[in-house]
Amino acid sequence: MSLIVTKFGGTSLADADQILKVKEIIEANPDRRYVVPSAPGKRSPEDTKVTDLLYRLYDQLNQGRDEPEAEQKIRTRFREIRDRLGLVTDVDGELDEIVAEIRRGASADYAASRGEYLNGMLLADLLGWDFIDASGAIFFDRNGVYDANKTMSILPRILNSCERAVIPGFYGSLPNGLVKTFSRGGSDITGSIVARACGADLYENWTDVSGFMMADPRLVPNARRIDTITYRELRELSYMGASVLHEDSIFPVLEAAIPINVRNTNDPENSGTMIVPALGKLPAGQPHITGIAGKKNFTVITLEKNGMNNEVGFVSRVLGCLEKFDLSFEHMPSSIDTVCIVIADKRIRGCIEELIDELHVVCEPDSVEVSSNMALIATVGRGMIRQIGLSARLFTALAEERINVRMIDQGSSEINLIVGVENDDFEKAVRAIYNAFVEADKKEHSPLSPER
Ligand code: ASP
Repeated sequence: MSLIVTKFGGTSLADADQILKVKEIIEANPDRRYVVPSAPGKRSPEDTKVTDLLYRLYDQLNQGRDEPEAEQKIRTRFREIRDRLGLVTDVDGELDEIVAEIRRGASADYAASRGEYLNGMLLADLLGWDFIDASGAIFFDRNGVYDANKTMSILPRILNSCERAVIPGFYGSLPNGLVKTFSRGGSDITGSIVARACGADLYENWTDVSGFMMADPRLVPNARRIDTITYRELRELSYMGASVLHEDSIFPVLEAAIPINVRNTNDPENSGTMIVPALGKLPAGQPHITGIAGKKNFTVITLEKNGMNNEVGFVSRVLGCLEKFDLSFEHMPSSIDTVCIVIADKRIRGCIEELIDELHVVCEPDSVEVSSNMALIATVGRGMIRQIGLSARLFTALAEERINVRMIDQGSSEINLIVGVENDDFEKAVRAIYNAFVEADKKEHSPLSPER
């Protein structure tokens, strides 16, 4: 028998009908013994997440505004779930207590965490399982940083004492006992921590999409699903804009090499995407790349200085200037006499002029040029660096679409090739790269292709 930790996102638990689907999924496999729920999410695109309503309630009560709307909406949503599922959880009593706590000065984190807390209680009630309050099981240090040592010394014992349990996602407690939440979407992290703590064989993350697509489906409709991806590839893609899982949710399971399976509550037959520690050679018939992701709005600062390559400490001075303005950069391609720094527009906005002045004073370059409106696109895949012709294929595709490449960065990570293009060419470029690899590969492997 194996052990599975199962996390369900907000849309999977948005109302009673969704929760019944979740129950069916959990009960379909007795290995699913620990469940981590989010708060009820959106039932339709116009709807509001319970977590957002709770933040609103907190603001209202703290500003002394008498607007019962948020509180009413929260009560209605939880009452509806309780009544439709025939549960006994004292929703109104719990909510009275929550409102009273906020009035007594409880924090915004406390307020926000109550969506997971109440949903967890309802789910435990429905399944007839134990309920573990995450306040006594997941810990943060004094600075509000997740405390893995403390959590791993306490949580495994708590889990061991329960055959089956529901542990709400998103929050834990500080050393003084007060509630602290992860950043938004943080129930994914709780699921990963629980998987680590009980030594799970698998961490299932159920959401409203069937895993990761090879490209953003808004840009490439019908983009192919990624069957299997490594943690590292996923980090690269997530960093570049592909968002399904919270980006920190990989760390707790990473060391223990527990695979994560992203699945769709509304399409449980679909096997979703499996995220694994490492993979060997690409299986035959798989596309040569794993996925494509990108982001718009970057600025490139190009410093030129004759003899830069012989000047000791030049780059260090450049980086010192960035540090002075508390700026992190994305890429730094260079040539003998130039170095380019790529920075997200939102970071550099407001301090660009001062930064340029500082670079002139500290680095004494011959020239500094600034150009904005650049989009970055990452093409990610295993062993890319060893595959002959991959970059040729990518650049040919862009050239055929008459897209100008402003920057190239392959680094040494072996799994990532980044190109910079004009913001306006972004969508076209993603589609061109996707077609060059995925559509072309499909033709190559089609039974009608001439090679077969
Ligand atoms: N409910 C929280 C949020 O909306 C956490 C989560 O869903 O993971 O961010």
